[in-house]
Amino acid sequence: MPRQSVSTPHRGYARVKVMEFDYVIVGAGSAGSVVANRLSADPSVTVALIEAGGNGRSWLVDVPGAFGLHASLKSHNWAYDSLPCPGTANRVHFCPRGKGVGGSSSINGMIYIRGAASDYDHWAQLGNRGWSYADVLPYFRRAEANSRGGSAYHGNMGPLPVTDVPTDYAMVRAFVAAGVEAGHLPNADFNGPETEGVGEYQFTINNGRRAGVRAAYIDPIISRSNLTILTNCRATRINLREGRASSVAAEQGGVPLTVTARREIILSGGAYATPQLLMLSGIGPGDALAEHGIAVQHELPGVGRNLIDHPDVNVAYRSLLKDGFSLAPRGLLHLLGDLGRYVRNRSGRLAQSLAPAGGFIRSASHIDVPDLQLHFVPTFYDDYGRAMRALAQHALSCHVYLARPKSVGWVRLASADPRYAPAIQLNMLDDPDDVRALVNGLRHVRDIMRQPSLAGYVGEEILPGMALTSDAELEAFVRNTCQHAYHPVGTARMGSDPMAVVDSNLRVHGIDGLRIADASVMPMIVSGNTNAACIMIGEKCADLVSGAAALPREEFEAAV
Ligand SMILES: Cc1cc2nc3c(=O)[nH]c(=O)nc-3n(C[C@H](O)[C@H](O)[C@H](O)COP(=O)(O)OP(=O)(O)OC[C@H]3O[C@@H](n4cnc5c(N)ncnc54)[C@H](O)[C@@H]3O)c2cc1C
Repeated sequence: MPRQSVSTPHRGYARVKVMEFDYVIVGAGSAGSVVANRLSADPSVTVALIEAGGNGRSWLVDVPGAFGLHASLKSHNWAYDSLPCPGTANRVHFCPRGKGVGGSSSINGMIYIRGAASDYDHWAQLGNRGWSYADVLPYFRRAEANSRGGSAYHGNMGPLPVTDVPTDYAMVRAFVAAGVEAGHLPNADFNGPETEGVGEYQFTINNGRRAGVRAAYIDPIISRSNLTILTNCRATRINLREGRASSVAAEQGGVPLTVTARREIILSGGAYATPQLLMLSGIGPGDALAEHGIAVQHELPGVGRNLIDHPDVNVAYRSLLKDGFSLAPRGLLHLLGDLGRYVRNRSGRLAQSLAPAGGFIRSASHIDVPDLQLHFVPTFYDDYGRAMRALAQHALSCHVYLARPKSVGWVRLASADPRYAPAIQLNMLDDPDDVRALVNGLRHVRDIMRQPSLAGYVGEEILPGMALTSDAELEAFVRNTCQHAYHPVGTARMGSDPMAVVDSNLRVHGIDGLRIADASVMPMIVSGNTNAACIMIGEKCADLVSGAAALPREEFEAAV
């Protein structure tokens, strides 16, 4: 297992003077940054935010069009590799994760999606009180500053810009029209009463700049004197004293630190790093700890289990108009023009997302809530954007992923040394139902792509290729090419059964003073991109920690 980069010398926002705080948060990503912002709004408490990466300030983060570069660069990306995945022809999958203040919101695709209302209702039905859609909708709204204004579904006063970003690619509007021609509903707001249908997405992009949580939640409060942000500082262990999480052992530029929490420690390292840190601290399944000679401090068999991500298949075509994003000579020329537009007034394709449209459809008519999500991409985006030969073609593609897969993987330690990456088994397509649903999804995509509105844009099918038509051929294609959507969740899941790691107040079972707020607490994956849900979890966690009354439940029109 590769060793991740060792911390560089301290270049953080602040030098530590006092190593004791009321609250210590580990990980400045989508959830952790929100918790830090909300808790430090109370000037009577002190907050430390520990982040293994840098301060997250870079044009690579701020320019939306730089998204693709993170596939090859490691400055803001942990760039893990999974273990070989049996269900996908034993392939190793690239597992990007954001590094630095902003976390994965600094390198993500910026699509703003919450998932289906029924996802959260399901969490509540599993026994997690306070997590139904009516309960969490007020937190989504509190976070949000939607450019369309406020409504029953949307906030307009929050820190997080959510905007319409008109696309420069004409083929995107043609894709939406084709989806409707294929019989899908048009949908102008996937975060409103209905998730179903096809349409253009909204984005966490603000005036041509990425609106990750660094820009939205941290930059505006950086001067708070009660908030200390320790960058390039890796948490290596949670120390327990008499059943209570008392301090975080960390390392910054080779120097060991102990950061003590007078009140609570909140883990927000994300779905791979949070279970890793728990296990390094002796909190987890006894057998997994024993493999690495780590003494059990607190047996919690569910730590690292229940890893879920969205398995994703790419359907690609040659572009007849050659007007998409491409690294072919003509595409590069276009890119130069885009660069000029971006530098002049932050407009053009570099100010936009590479997945402007998509939608939610059903793999089969008996499915109640759409179980497939589409991402239409005006380029040939393959192998997580690392396939340069694909990008050098004039092509377009539509990715389809399974929104609620049945297959479940795990995260374990690869080493007792915190500098090593965790072992990640995505275990995608373990359940044959997942493969069948993706094959149906692929056929739905083909159906959309042959509609009249796209006739002038779509040429020969590159992937899977028209020669592949039977179930067996398409199943083999899915297994041989399926990737994932970088949405790992569930590895420290919420619940009250023996495999649950946190309770519905996000407290780690059996340990005082320790909570988790990040993607790992999701009991089931949400039917959509996961950033908004992580931000919501951070918003709600802050109220749980501070003891603020929960925001009043929201009445809304019942829908999917
Ligand atoms: C390439 C990519 C594209 C995506 N596209 C979208 C999209 O378009 N829309 C969407 O909604 N979602 C998208 N996502 C998913 C979404 O961004 C994540 O689900 C979300 O950001 C996860 O938030 P988190 O709080 O769980 O963890 P993260 O945001 O990953 O934050 C974890 C933080 O903890 C830090 N950390 C880890 N270990 C330690 C340690 N030991 N000590 C100190 N700090 C530590 C990390 O460096 C990181 O900053 C994408 C993700 C990726 C990677």
